[in-house]
Amino acid sequence: MFENLQDKLDRAFKVLKGQGSISEINVAETVKEIRKALLDADVNYKTAKTFTDEVREKALGQNVLTSVSPGQLLTKIMNDELASLMGGTVTELELKGNPTVILIAGLNGAGKTTFSGKLANYLKDKKNKKPLLVAGDVYRPAAVDQLQILGEQVGVPVYANLESKDPVAIAMEGIAEAKRNGNNVVIIDTAGRLAIDEALMNEISAVKVATQPQEILFVVDSMTGQDAVNTAKAFNDRLDYTGVVLTKLDGDTRGGAALSIKSVVNKPIKFIGTGEKMEALDVFYPDRMASRILG
Ligand code: GDP
Repeated sequence: MFENLQDKLDRAFKVLKGQGSISEINVAETVKEIRKALLDADVNYKTAKTFTDEVREKALGQNVLTSVSPGQLLTKIMNDELASLMGGTVTELELKGNPTVILIAGLNGAGKTTFSGKLANYLKDKKNKKPLLVAGDVYRPAAVDQLQILGEQVGVPVYANLESKDPVAIAMEGIAEAKRNGNNVVIIDTAGRLAIDEALMNEISAVKVATQPQEILFVVDSMTGQDAVNTAKAFNDRLDYTGVVLTKLDGDTRGGAALSIKSVVNKPIKFIGTGEKMEALDVFYPDRMASRILG
């Protein structure tokens, strides 16, 4: 599907054989290839440009060892650079507070409800927690049903109040319920919209103020390309969230959104969704994503 970048670079560097070190001319030729590969992977133009400029600086004058192809050398430089731009290491959830409150935000269809179920499952099985899910979407009764089904599947209780149209009240009731029942994490799923609008932002900001969450996770569909970056920025401007969840990475996207979002909002990516099943959740590893973006 995608041509291997390292092969491309090796080809571009053929002229270099025996020359000893990477020269300005050779780098200039290949920088174009690298930038194109990044754009193909959905990295936004500005990020791709900054990145390739940095790689050029690092690559210039590097000695080309006989055992390593220039393509390999550049790929390694890029891999390390990309991984470091995406945070370098794994960023864990802050599980402070009792209960820990985790607010889930994002547009409709991004994968919030699915992720809420996955996160509850992960915290219960991998972190030995006793989570409670709260159904905070007051506009779509189907979303409440969906969360209840997922809760049942993963064996985590769900707090819902179909009588109420007040997301703040529901969230607070959920926290009170958690305290009563000894749940030490509360995951609040919230309503989304098809596009960012004032009403949605006001509503979720009010839930934030009332519940004082330790974590606000912004969920975004990795297949939405540049829109993902714009949405990430708009939500961050209003919510100042603590982490990003990239969903649908099981599709054929290369994951460039991870790099673009990190460089635009500078918030850690904490999880990736890799399927519809409740187990299809991974902690975000910057180095693995770097390899995926470079192909
Ligand atoms: P919400 O509107 O943000 O709550 O989104 P949903 O959780 O309802 O997800 C929307 C659709 O995307 C559903 O059909 C989910 O099964 C699907 N979905 C969510 N996460 C993933 C993922 O990581 N991979 C794939 N392939 N599908 C996903």
